[in-house]
Amino acid sequence: MSDCIFCKIIKGDIPSTNVFRDKQVTAFRDISPSAPTHILLVPNRHIDSINMLTGEDEQLMGHLFTVASQLAMQENVAENGYRLIVNTGSHGGQTVPHIHLHLLGGAPMKHPMG
Ligand code: 5GP
Ligand code: ZN
Repeated sequence: MSDCIFCKIIKGDIPSTNVFRDKQVTAFRDISPSAPTHILLVPNRHIDSINMLTGEDEQLMGHLFTVASQLAMQENVAENGYRLIVNTGSHGGQTVPHIHLHLLGGAPMKHPMG
């Protein structure tokens, strides 16, 4: 998607602080962090939201979580814990329409869900 911010980050057209990259997934630091560690993990292939997933995406989405687990260890937040969030649609608070998994850690999460 040519006008998608995260596709531009994946292509390198917009600068970002990348912490992981492979064939399927890119992870980079959130520009406006909500926690000491705030990483966004995105599929390299554009998918608008969780609403658009099909059975063919199961391996990809599983991989996204495996990478999140590795990054949590790399960031030293695994032991104390962290939060993974995927906002979906307007009620879910999704502002960028390219699936992304937020990895938040480094401090106790203050806000209850909802
Ligand atoms: P959402 O609200 O859609 O779940 O999360 C979108 C996230 O993307 C927000 O936390 C926001 O700070 C982050 N974000 C938006 N634009 C950029 C950008 O250009 N670069 C980076 N690194 N993060 C961005
Ligand atoms: Zn995109």
